Amino acid sequence: MALEIRPNCECCDIDLPPHSLAARICTFECTFCADCVDRVLHNACPNCGGGFQPRPIRPRQEWRPGISLATRPASTRRVHLSYNLEDVSAFAERIRAIPAEER
Ligand SMILES: [Zn+2]
Ligand SMILES: [Zn+2]
Repeated sequence: MALEIRPNCECCDIDLPPHSLAARICTFECTFCADCVDRVLHNACPNCGGGFQPRPIRPRQEWRPGISLATRPASTRRVHLSYNLEDVSAFAERIRAIPAEER
């Protein structure tokens, strides 16, 4: 199973292509942009409560046979938060002070 590289930020819907340095993910692959993680979510995933890390880049070039963006393409299914912004902000306020490794 490869990482599902999702095409957009769940919060602001900005495009996050596979080579984007702005993509952030939690362990469940919930995907957001760095701006939303910093300013809205405060490093608390609104779906699971976990912290975020930069999403690695999947190489375009086939450095090893069968392993590349072309052979293992990114997802095209856009994902959107199922909570409204008010709820997301309240959730972040509740847990942002707890370090991710202690949640
Ligand atoms: Zn965003
Ligand atoms: Zn999550």
